Amino acid sequence: MTLRVTGKVVTPTGVTRQGCVEIVGDRIRAVAEYPSVRDGHWIVPGFVDMHTHGGGGHTFTTGDVESAREAAAFHLRHGTTTLLASLVSSPFSLMREATTAYRPLVESGVLAGVHFEGPYLSADRCGAQNPEFLRDPSTDELAELIELGGGAVRMVTLAPERDGALEAIKLLAARGVVAAVGHTDATWAQTRAAVAAGASVGTHLFNGMRPVHHREPGPVIALLEAPNVVCELVADGVHLHDGMLAFATSVAGAERAALITDAMAAAGMPDGEYELGGQAVTVSGGVARLSRDGAIAGSTLTMDAALRHAVAAGIAWPDACRMVATTPARAIGLGDQVGALQPGLRADLVVLDDDFNVVRVMRGGAWVE
Ligand SMILES: [Zn+2]
Repeated sequence: MTLRVTGKVVTPTGVTRQGCVEIVGDRIRAVAEYPSVRDGHWIVPGFVDMHTHGGGGHTFTTGDVESAREAAAFHLRHGTTTLLASLVSSPFSLMREATTAYRPLVESGVLAGVHFEGPYLSADRCGAQNPEFLRDPSTDELAELIELGGGAVRMVTLAPERDGALEAIKLLAARGVVAAVGHTDATWAQTRAAVAAGASVGTHLFNGMRPVHHREPGPVIALLEAPNVVCELVADGVHLHDGMLAFATSVAGAERAALITDAMAAAGMPDGEYELGGQAVTVSGGVARLSRDGAIAGSTLTMDAALRHAVAAGIAWPDACRMVATTPARAIGLGDQVGALQPGLRADLVVLDDDFNVVRVMRGGAWVE
């Protein structure tokens, strides 16, 4: 049986004003012109969030399976059909437990993988990461986690200036795990060395990084200029000035700029007191900050809100759609499975109204209740 979803279809090559996505089983069979349709809702690819710590009051950072399911379900209602569970810096024992706990969720498709944001990060640029847990990269630890995960460990963020970082990056790249540069005080040259060793993602570009200086361009410039690096951007108007968001996007292009939420448990929840990696977080006016020193502690974004924000900041509509789906899917090695309205890919799509609010979400050919 063929299911047809009709409307204004956004594909990687543009917009089909009178279009239709044909679905058989859990796959997209065709994207076609459908002359009987005039306008209707937007149909965009299901969102791919490669960096999120939780949402809806639930967190990934503790390794708890039920919380992880709830957080994934919360983001699914906001159109995120593929996501990585991001864990902040933790003791190795927790990293091991979380990998074991989440492996079945990755195998059953609830999560697309685990992202360890740390603990191999810069103390000077730790942001809301717990400084207690920061340490030099360990290839032994990484090899054990990769083995334990059986494919569940998909991305690791580290600071290239730490001892052993280049060996760690080489190990990750060789084992098919994305090495991401972030929470770093690296110089331009150190970042270039990380990219040469196989790093292919810049973790929330600008945030938790040595800033740009004209005599020391630092990680931001090195990541923006590297043709094989995808740069994550938090489009909430808090982490980044809209002018910086638009500028970075124009430099990297939509094929190398990925919107992420970096959401914590408070996404979709009222202001109040929360917790991130063992630290108290206060959310006020939707902005999450460490109670201790006011450092930005993740966001309260969802991907649909990020998309709306990016468009309001002046990013072209088809580009913004690529930045929430196609580009992050490719960045985490899933571009041949999800991230675009294209025949053969999994039937993940979001129906949006003219204000880009979520109307319906489909994952694997089935509407989300
Ligand atoms: Zn971070």
